[in-house]
Amino acid sequence: MELSAPQLSHAEPKTLARLAETTAEGPVLSLFMELGPAFATPQARQSELNSLMTLAQREIEQDGAKKELSEALPVLKDHLQNDEDWWKDARGAAVYFSPDEIFEVVRCLEPLETKAEVSAWPHIEPLSEVVTGDLWCVMMISRTIARYLMGFPRRLREVESIEDDVRGQHSQGGWSQARFERSVEKDVQDHIKKSTEELRELLGKTRFDCLVVVTLPEMWPDVERELHSDLKDRLAGVLELDIEHSSVDEVRSEVEQLAEVRDNEKERGLLDALQEGLGRGERAAGGVTQVFAALAENRVATFLVDESFERDGVACTSCGWAGQQGKECPVDSKPLRQGVDLKDWGMRRTLASSGDVRVVKFHPDLQSQEGIGAILRY
Ligand SMILES: [Zn+2]
Repeated sequence: MELSAPQLSHAEPKTLARLAETTAEGPVLSLFMELGPAFATPQARQSELNSLMTLAQREIEQDGAKKELSEALPVLKDHLQNDEDWWKDARGAAVYFSPDEIFEVVRCLEPLETKAEVSAWPHIEPLSEVVTGDLWCVMMISRTIARYLMGFPRRLREVESIEDDVRGQHSQGGWSQARFERSVEKDVQDHIKKSTEELRELLGKTRFDCLVVVTLPEMWPDVERELHSDLKDRLAGVLELDIEHSSVDEVRSEVEQLAEVRDNEKERGLLDALQEGLGRGERAAGGVTQVFAALAENRVATFLVDESFERDGVACTSCGWAGQQGKECPVDSKPLRQGVDLKDWGMRRTLASSGDVRVVKFHPDLQSQEGIGAILRY
């Protein structure tokens, strides 16, 4: 068996949405791993991959010993060992593999917990933990420079910067002091205008959800005045940090704190909407049976799942029905797939029908609903 290079992709929402719709004829092996600095040495890589393949082999046997997948493992391992393109500059990776059908590596900026899964489709649950939620943009603006960071809070990175030559920041010239100061102020105002326009362009390119402005207290009123209403609506915080010298890590940690407060509030809002819907018996589902029935009908707008939810069930790969147990699908009498990870299935169905997934972390409400709930479209 020959293996050509894997399709390489990045952990981002569109990758997740595509994987959620991917199916295969044969079984799909999903591998997750952390790529520490040692991964660059062939010996360490070998030992990592060996233990991963042992895990994979165990999963394949549990799934009913699919011979072709078992036989392909050594080839897959060799390829991952010797091809260097897929792991360079990544901290984590998900490998999806089905002989002759799927070979894709999703590269992540954060480490993933080591895990192997065998299913009839790519297992997406570990990836969805790193790429769901709000997308954040940070503009750091001083009198002469503007820096822009973008991403999910834990994976913010600098995407752009502007440096404007504000007159008189360095030399005095021969002007009268008043004229000179007016001229400098005009330059600063121009810089603010240009920087906020750039921000609006970034919004056009990437629809971020939340904005943080880092600036000097005396500059904020002028910056605020220039922010377009589209940007003001997204403003989640104004911070004071050293604009020229703060590292991305420092900014990231501040933004993570803001994001946590916001996530907590958002989660509260969604859970309140769920409670209210359940109370009225409208546009809401709670518990495994109800939620999976709604998912099968593509009615889920927001799939809410408790962080601790872990349960295997059964699913019909033909019509999408899923439940706790059974041999035959109640909708179309097809045989049901056993041992389906219901959290993964729920995320998959939701993303494939353009819904939102939210892993509930701060509030215990879902405990009374077997750990899952859904806000419905109708
Ligand atoms: Zn069915």
